[in-house]
Order: sequence, then C-alpha cells, then structure tokens
Amino acid sequence: MKKSLIWFRNDLRLHDNEALAKATQADKILPVYIFDPRHYEPTSFGFPKTGSHRARFLLESLENLQSNLKEHSLDLTFRMGKPEEVIPEIIRRHDIDLAFTHKEITREEIDVEEGIKDALGDKLNFVWGSTLFHVNDIPFSKNDIPDVFTQFRKKTEKQAEVRKELEFRDNVELIQDVNSDPLPSLNDLDLEPKDHENRAVLDFKGGEDEALKRLKEYFWDKDQLKNYKYTRNGLLGSDYSSKFSPWLANGSLSPRRIYWEVKKYEDERKSNVSTYWMIFELIWRDYFRFSAWKHGDKLFWQSGIQSKDRDWRTDRKDFKKWAEGNTGIPFIDANMRELNATGYMSNRGRQNVASFLAQNMNIDWRMGAEYFESLLLDYDPCSNYGNWAYNSTVGHDPRNRYFNIINQAEKYDKKGEYVRHWIPELEKVPKEFIHEPHKMNPEQQTLHSVDIGDSYPKPMINLEESYEEIKARE
Ligand code: FAD
Repeated sequence: MKKSLIWFRNDLRLHDNEALAKATQADKILPVYIFDPRHYEPTSFGFPKTGSHRARFLLESLENLQSNLKEHSLDLTFRMGKPEEVIPEIIRRHDIDLAFTHKEITREEIDVEEGIKDALGDKLNFVWGSTLFHVNDIPFSKNDIPDVFTQFRKKTEKQAEVRKELEFRDNVELIQDVNSDPLPSLNDLDLEPKDHENRAVLDFKGGEDEALKRLKEYFWDKDQLKNYKYTRNGLLGSDYSSKFSPWLANGSLSPRRIYWEVKKYEDERKSNVSTYWMIFELIWRDYFRFSAWKHGDKLFWQSGIQSKDRDWRTDRKDFKKWAEGNTGIPFIDANMRELNATGYMSNRGRQNVASFLAQNMNIDWRMGAEYFESLLLDYDPCSNYGNWAYNSTVGHDPRNRYFNIINQAEKYDKKGEYVRHWIPELEKVPKEFIHEPHKMNPEQQTLHSVDIGDSYPKPMINLEESYEEIKARE
C-alpha cells in the first residue's frame, strides 16, 4: 500500500488508535478531519446539535491532535462539508490506495458511512476502537447481546480480555492537501463562546495531552482511584469522579489506556473494590454501545427498545423551566444550572433531572436527551440516549423506575452545599429548608433573604402528587 488516508472522527488521539496504526503501514499518509455542517444544525426540538461548550472542547482537541501529528512530521487537514462528498473527492484527487476510519454504529453516522461506500466501494476500511472490549472479543453475537447489564458484564469479564494498546509506525511521509481549510473558530461555526465559569468542577480542556494529564492526576498525583467507589456519587469538586467522559467521548482518551493504567496502579499501589469499580463503569459504557449496536434505531424512538407507548407531554413552557433550572425544586435547578454553565453534570445529577423530566413531569424524554446532546461536553449517542431511555422506563430496565428527588437531595447533598453553590438566591437558607425552601413561612423567608415566588420560584409541581401519577402508570 503506497498512499493511505486516515479520517479522524471520534478517535482524536495518537495513542491506541487502530485506524492510525493501519494507515501508517503505507508509505505516505493524509490525515483528515471533516466539519460536517449537519453537526451544527438545530436538533428536531430546535436546540443547537453541538452547543458552544462541546464545540469549544472539540476545537481544542483538534488543535492538540494537529500539533501532536506535527511532532511526527505529519499534519491534520481540515475540511468543511459532508464526508460522503469530501472523502471521495480527496481520495480521487490524491490517488489514495486505502482509507481507514473508526466504525460508528448510530443512524446519522451509518448513513454517512453508507454514502461513502456508495461512492468508493470498499476503499474505506472500518476499525472498531471506542470500547474497552473489542467487538470481536465479546462472547456474544450482535443479536444475542443481553438486555440485562449484569449478564453482559459477567460473561464478558469471564470470557473476554482487554486487548493491548496499539502503536503506529513513525516516519511515514505526509501527503499535503493544499485545499485544507483553517481550523474554524466558534464564531465560524455560528456559536458564541461561553464565559469562563469559576464554579465548574474542572477546567475541562480538550485534547489528548489534557486527557493523559487528567488520568495521571486522578490516579497517581491525587491518588483518588483507591476511593473511587465511595466518592463517585459526589456533586462538588474535581475529584469525586474521574471526569474522563469528555475525552472518552471524542476519543482523545482510549478506554484501554485507562484499563491498563488501572492494572498498573493495582500492581504498584493498591488493588481494591474501587480500582475494580473504574473498570465496572467502563463496562457500563461498553454495554450502552453494544446494546445500541444491537437495537439500532430503536435507541432514538420515543417508545424505546421496549416499544412502550405512553401519553407523553411536550409542553414547551414547562420544559423551559426544567432546562433553565427554574423548577422551584433546588436539587433539579442546581444540576441544570451547572449543565448550562459548564457542559458537565454528575451522574447522580443526570439521573435525577432525567427522572424528574420524564417521570414526574411526564415530558417526552427525547426532549431532555436532545437538550443534553446540545449541552454535554461528553455527549455520546449511545450513553446519552441509552441512559435517558433507562431512566425514562423505555430502556433496558422494565421496572417503572423513578427517584424520590427530595430523598436523593437529602442523601447526596446533606448540608445543601451543592444547591447553594449553583443557586445564589438560596445562599442564606439553612440546611433544614434548603431542599424545600417553599416550606418556609414569610418571616423565615425574610430572615433568610429569599422571597419564594419572586427571587426563587415556587415548585412547579407537587412532587408527592406526581409520584402517585407515576405509580398509577404501572
Ligand atoms: P466516572 O464516574 O469517573 O466514570 C468513569 C467512566 O465510566 C465515565 O467517564 C464514563 O465513560 C463511564 N460511565 C460511568 N457511568 C456511566 C453510565 N451510566 N453510562 C455510560 N458510561 C458510564 N456519559 C457519557 O459519557 N456521555 C453521555 O452523553 C452521557 N449521558 C448521560 C445521560 C443521562 C441521563 C445519564 C443518567 C447518564 C449519562 N452519562 C453519559 C453517563 C454518566 O453520567 C457519565 O459518563 C459520567 O457522569 C461522567 O463523569 P465521569 O467521567 O467523572 O464518570
């Protein structure tokens, strides 16, 4: 093979990158990333498909990828346009012999892949690289992938091994593409940069270098891995959980790198239930991807993989209160305000706001999922739609799941510090009222510098009544 092309998609790294390993077997290589305009259009409910938080993170990731490629005398070509048009054009112009990219498994990405296949036949080769376990190593065929996580995990852990990381061949000659566009700015993508947020859990910066830095910091420098299982449900600060998800989502970090680093940590420092739990969570991530592969488009259906019909609401005014963090239920509002300001929300928060929207409010879960898609730094179609469906009772768990929001708030934010962090209007409210400030009488409200219904909203629904409605749906 003389000339190859690597099309970077959600694999923005040099380490453990099979497409790069294969493409660098050629004498000359052309690395390319394509800005697909469809990624910047509104979603079906009208949110920007890629909001400013994730777009900023992506641009930083690409800048870093380009600079790392330059260290190996390579470069990254940027092009604007539909990949099914751009890739064939580049391949023809440069007379490329073979092209490589990572396989995606959800509808929009598959359509693009089909378009390229139509134009090029088998010239574009797909590799599998976003999961911990390789698709060829899991002990199931596509249609036999279990719908119960524990069954998937146990058999996979027993029968499959995590592969070693892959390396690429150095000293490959670069094919220059004179038509390369410059790396766009947020403004070029019609997006407004967001203000820097001091209250964020972490100053998330895109790119492989930052991903590897965070891995080292969380495991080795701060030695947090040994406590992970007991801290992972936290809400405040950088270290209750790993915060690897944004880098994993765009592929700046390989899950296999995390796995082998856990093994090293277990050898050199400590091996306990927490070190295992990091791998356990990565298997959840695999499970959502493999399951999306099995169920195909049902991942995005309102009735989910269970084909479960329900009379969903789509009330825009109510949805807006949820989205903007003005429901009058502080635990929900704090989480939504964090998401809006930073593009990140803890797993505990995500479960609660999803349960609140889909269950207590009975609003079409796909509106929430699309809103997350727009905002999340770590948006991944399989994890996002899979988790949303799961929490909306149309996913894998057939039970009528819901959270008792106030119990959750009292358990995970005992003193109300998280709520006060994100809702300054409630800063002076003492812990006995912080999760239900509307229960204060007018004198207490004055004493604690809040006016419920004015400076902070009244609860938009009666939670207790809504639990009865949820139960009645069973
Ligand atoms: P850690 O607790 O440190 O976990 C380590 C890694 O394990 C994570 O980075 C992630 O890759 C994986 N992981 C952990 N929990 C889950 C889970 N429930 N599902 C899948 N993978 C998991 N995660 C995404 O990466 N992208 C999404 O779009 C996404 N949307 C979600 C939507 C909802 C409604 C819910 C309830 C969860 C969603 N998650 C999503 C899963 C989870 O909330 C995040 O992965 C996690 O909060 C990221 O923080 P962390 O990296 O510090 O996680």
